[in-house]
Amino acid sequence: MANVIPGVGDPVQSRCTKCKRITRHFVVSLVEGKPVRVQCTACEGIHNYRPAKVPASPRPATAPRRRATSAAARSEAAAQEFEEAMGEKDRTRATAYQMTGTFRSRELLQHPTFGLGLVRKVVPPNKIHVLFRDGLRTLRCAG
Ligand SMILES: [Zn+2]
Repeated sequence: MANVIPGVGDPVQSRCTKCKRITRHFVVSLVEGKPVRVQCTACEGIHNYRPAKVPASPRPATAPRRRATSAAARSEAAAQEFEEAMGEKDRTRATAYQMTGTFRSRELLQHPTFGLGLVRKVVPPNKIHVLFRDGLRTLRCAG
């Protein structure tokens, strides 16, 4: 159940019959706290509220979802993954990244360009996969 009860004039996502897609609407009238009539901001048509499919609350980590996501969504996911991975780490203990360095899985490193990163995987002979805030990168290391 949504915690926020919309009011008249509030923006909601609704399927628009004229635009034939999910567009931004403003609530025109409500019944028992639920939008009934909405106005499309794209075509200005007023019609019944057809709720856009609301994604289920935070997806379980165990459910892999193979969906075409935009680059923005991917980088957002990376940032979230990064934050989650970093949550349990002492950020002050990051090792300065050098191509000549050796790194272990789950080690924190500080990259001069990409910033703080977490070693996700060591790939022999001389590469590491590192999770940065903006995504996963492959870096050189001494192996
Ligand atoms: Zn419309």
